[in-house]
Amino acid sequence: MNIIPRSGWGARAPRSTTTTSWSQRTEFIVHYSLGPTTQSVRAIQDFHMDGQGWSDIDYNFLVDVAGRIYEGRGWLGVGAHAPDHNTSGIGVCMIGRDGDSTLAAKRAIRWLYDEACRRAGWNLAKLGHRDVYATSCPGNELHAWVRAGMPVDGGAAGVPAEHVGDGLVGPRALRRPAPSPQ
Ligand SMILES: [Zn+2]
Repeated sequence: MNIIPRSGWGARAPRSTTTTSWSQRTEFIVHYSLGPTTQSVRAIQDFHMDGQGWSDIDYNFLVDVAGRIYEGRGWLGVGAHAPDHNTSGIGVCMIGRDGDSTLAAKRAIRWLYDEACRRAGWNLAKLGHRDVYATSCPGNELHAWVRAGMPVDGGAAGVPAEHVGDGLVGPRALRRPAPSPQ
């Protein structure tokens, strides 16, 4: 999958940036935007910067219902999506409300999760925002999916088996070792 860079959605420059390192990343936190699925990433950024007074869009990545992935603060930018979890957690937002998520959106989120684990070198905890903060985010449907382990039927397309977080998806999981000749 491709990540649409900030230049691809007309991002404003951040007022400031803080970065962390992979050694600090232990959590992957799923959010929803609680707005229409048609809301632009730029509109979300404008709200965060002008309405909330934050330095930038608060998520690390955003995903829309068509499965497109947008770069927010990126892999190692410290976000503003979950108090006390912005250094440890990569925040990914599904653009929409409870019940709006699609298989395409879930595949994109799962791809980001697998890629984050590959880059970190270990499995990050799969969390919904409500698991670390008193909020309804990311909605009942998406939260149940996260708690179920973020399954996507057919596996994480395009991701080699060794990159899949729980190691149960892909051809290697299906292949039995050949019997040794006696
Ligand atoms: Zn949230």
